[in-house]
Order: sequence, then C-alpha cells, then structure tokens
Amino acid sequence: MSVVRIEHVCKDYLLGDQKVQALKDITLSFEPGVFLAIAGPSGSGKTTLLNLIGCIDTPTSGKIFINDQDVSGRTPDQLADLRARTIGFIFQTFNLLPVLSAIENVEYPLLQRSDVSKEERQRRITTFLDIVGLSKYAHHRPNQLSGGQRQRVAIARALAIHPAIVLADEPTANLDHKTGEEILSLMKQINREFGTTFIFSTHDKRVIAKADRLVRVEDGEIAVLGVRSDTEWALASQKRSKRDAATQPHTHP
Ligand code: ADP
Ligand code: MG
Repeated sequence: MSVVRIEHVCKDYLLGDQKVQALKDITLSFEPGVFLAIAGPSGSGKTTLLNLIGCIDTPTSGKIFINDQDVSGRTPDQLADLRARTIGFIFQTFNLLPVLSAIENVEYPLLQRSDVSKEERQRRITTFLDIVGLSKYAHHRPNQLSGGQRQRVAIARALAIHPAIVLADEPTANLDHKTGEEILSLMKQINREFGTTFIFSTHDKRVIAKADRLVRVEDGEIAVLGVRSDTEWALASQKRSKRDAATQPHTHP
C-alpha cells in the first residue's frame, strides 16, 4: 500500500500566453510512515508538487492516488472533504488566524468535522498542544508567541484531524537555525512515535539531512531519489505495525 502515488503527473501554468511547465512527468510513490524531504532550489516545483499531493490544486495530466484512491475527477467539495479528513498542512509563514488563541487555532479545522464531537475536539486540542509543548500558552494569540511557538501551534493544528499525511512547505524557512532544528526534531519525534507520514519541502541542507527519504526536484523533474537510514526506517515501520494493530482506525492517541 502507498499513502501517496503519483503517476505521470504534469502541471502547467499559464502566465499570460506563456506556458510554464512546473512539473514534467513525475512518477513517485510513498509508503505510510515515511519522513520525506522534497528538496530543490527555488522555482524547481516543490510547492506545486505539495499542492497537488494536498489536493489544493489538480494536475494538468496524470493521476494522483491518496491511500490508493484515485482523486482525479473529484469535485472541489469532495476534495475539500478529503483534505479535512486526511491531510494536515504546515506552512512557511505558519498561517495561524491572528484573532484566535492557540486553542482556537487548533480547534478550527475540527469545526468542519461533524463526525468529531465537542468532547473529542477538546480532548484532541489538549493532547496535541501538550505534545508540541505549548499547554502553558494555550490562551495566547499568535502575536503573543515566538516564531517557533507559532509553528508548534500549526503542527498541533495539522495533527488534530488525525491526518494520514502531514504536508509541510518549507516549515523552517522563517525560523532561525536553532528553532528550525527544534521544529524538525519535533516533527521527527511525532513521526517515530505515532507513525504519522510527513512530507516536507526545503532547500536547506541541514533540514534535508534529517529526512529518511529524499526526492530532489530540479526544473520540474525528479533529479534524485534517496533513502537515508534503513535501520531507523525499519524501526519506525515496526512501531507503526504495532500501533495499527492496537489503535485501528485512528492514527493518534
Ligand atoms: P518552488 O516551490 O520549488 O520554489 P514552485 O512550485 O512555486 O517552486 O514553482 C515552480 C514553477 O512554476 C516556477 O517556475 C514558478 O514560477 C511557476 N509557478 C508556480 N505557481 C505559478 C502560478 N500560479 N502561475 C504561474 N506560474 C507559476
Ligand atoms: Mg515553494
């Protein structure tokens, strides 16, 4: 099984009457539980690729499968529903709602989910703010938090929906080096502990070094595919199998 499968995907943008080929015939698949970096210089197609995986945008040609289900041809409403249940997003600029507290920001995507009760919502908010180390700041608004703390709120918000995949577009690019390392370590810890799939883009070598798997894009094409650590990967897979056996159907505590 693959959590994401991309088959012969092309994405063109029209800039005036000029066609920009942002992605050219990309074929990839990722196993559940992977901690994967999409690396490449600015303009290489990283954000485009993440937006397609996240069903925020649709390919010009080719197919995308999420949890082995073909998402081509779905309506915008169906894609919004898939995102709300399956995909957590983390952004370079955090994208928190400024008038909402940390609690309310984490709660926000859960309000779209009629299947999650109020009690369950409260439980998840408490759990994930605790996991990212922000319980004490629960009532703070984004402008009362540091960049690193804001990104921690964004991570809690992404996890609260119990996503199959967390997508992070240059999550450390607006943070100083030390804070960026801490955010990456937190993501990796969550990946190891709960088996959550993380796919993040970066052009920072030090961030790339933390990934287990690497996809390098250059000029809209795959330049390199790599596996970093087979041992750690095997350990994460074992934990995931145990967790799946114990906690079906949820991904998180
Ligand atoms: P990266 O995230 O690696 O910096 P992007 O995926 O943002 O790269 O962009 C890939 C290419 O597609 C670039 O040439 C960029 O200028 C172009 N592009 C991205 N988004 C649009 C858009 N909405 N309209 C036109 N061209 C775009
Ligand atoms: Mg980008």
